[in-house]
Amino acid sequence: IQEKLSLLKPNTYNSVNSLLETSALELAKKVDAKIANGETIGLLEGIPFGIKDVYMVQGTYTTASSNLLKNYKSAYTATAIQKLIDAGAIPIVKENCDSFGHGSSSENTIFGAVKNAINPELVAGGSSGGSAVNVAKDYTVFSIGGDTGGSVRQPAGYNNVYGLKPTYGRISRYGLMAYASSTDCVGPIAKSVEDIRIVLNVMSGKDVKDQTTYASAEISEAAISNSNDIKTVGYFKNFIESDAIDSKIKSDFLASIEKIKAKGIEVKELDFFKSDILVSTYYTLAMAETASNLSRLDGSNYGNRIEDKNLKESYAVTRSENFSEETKRRIVGGNQVLSQGFSDEIYLKGLALRDAIAENFENDFKEVDIILSPVTPGTPPKIGDSLKDPHAMYLSDAYTVGFSLGQLPTLTIPQGTETGLQITAAKNNDELVLKFANFLK
Ligand code: GLN
Repeated sequence: IQEKLSLLKPNTYNSVNSLLETSALELAKKVDAKIANGETIGLLEGIPFGIKDVYMVQGTYTTASSNLLKNYKSAYTATAIQKLIDAGAIPIVKENCDSFGHGSSSENTIFGAVKNAINPELVAGGSSGGSAVNVAKDYTVFSIGGDTGGSVRQPAGYNNVYGLKPTYGRISRYGLMAYASSTDCVGPIAKSVEDIRIVLNVMSGKDVKDQTTYASAEISEAAISNSNDIKTVGYFKNFIESDAIDSKIKSDFLASIEKIKAKGIEVKELDFFKSDILVSTYYTLAMAETASNLSRLDGSNYGNRIEDKNLKESYAVTRSENFSEETKRRIVGGNQVLSQGFSDEIYLKGLALRDAIAENFENDFKEVDIILSPVTPGTPPKIGDSLKDPHAMYLSDAYTVGFSLGQLPTLTIPQGTETGLQITAAKNNDELVLKFANFLK
């Protein structure tokens, strides 16, 4: 624990929002004492991990990388994090990210842009950029990110590590700061499928504090070591033939497809009925949900309150001074699509499209066991570039947001150095995703 803390202290990649030094060392002492006593310790006991700074951990700063919450300390601990602590894992760091999860580059933060672990001139990806970098640099053994539309999978791809977005509802979101509640997922980032499996098992399960959760069976090591039941893999032709895709990403992806065919798996080309609706549907709904979720942040209960002439002005000034440009863009957009006169035309249409997208995936999984895709159409941009063009940043989420709308389990695995390979299965079939990742090893 001491070694990891000393690696994190220089904050070379801007991946750290706060270190949990005192509590981590105390927890480590307890594990040491157990070992000295000759007691056997569990698999996760004494293992250092990182937490994206959007999770409540009692007594720690939970800033969401925002000015509004820069002095806010959690009053309680998120269910998923508590389960890890109960299993003996030791949280050592709250990690930098795009504020409130808004972004794909981890530049939209008051703590400075997170630098890519492979090439520090490039972005780390986002929004869980600090978490992916800490795992890539071995500063943490695993980190817990949050994935609403790709925030675990995309930075995992940009930094060459593994990142899982489980089936929606498999892990409790209680204590994860809400961004877009209908797609928010807790997601582990680690250096192997095995580590992902262990951490996923600990965090999964029904929680009375999150009514979307369900009970799920543990995934055993044996269950994901034999891939005999994976016969067919599909990929979306219109993702790969799009003008937006980088040529190296395309050739890496097609090379993976050839390898899979050589292993005797049947590969089918699928047609997504309209791939350009994915980004617009996701952002319509995500903006609407975040406008609603963030309406509680007006400085009256918590956060960095700025006083003005009267109550209404105080709310306005607190919000306009403390939210980032990107967050304000989303609140304005979200309130617009929810407002009278617009909501039928835009928001309700978004909901209908979400259902159509989910149905499209359900039909695809009648034909194939696994869907493969690159994680992103492009390679990580240079630090500074995404901030100049938010629309281009939204479009870079084209391959991740659809699976979020479908609430599907999906995993990024490293592939070359450019971006990752995304493995997706039908709802509740997280096991198959891990199994296929093992098969590709
Ligand atoms: N880049 C996407 C967004 O900004 C996804 C972010 C996330 O998953 N938190 O909404």
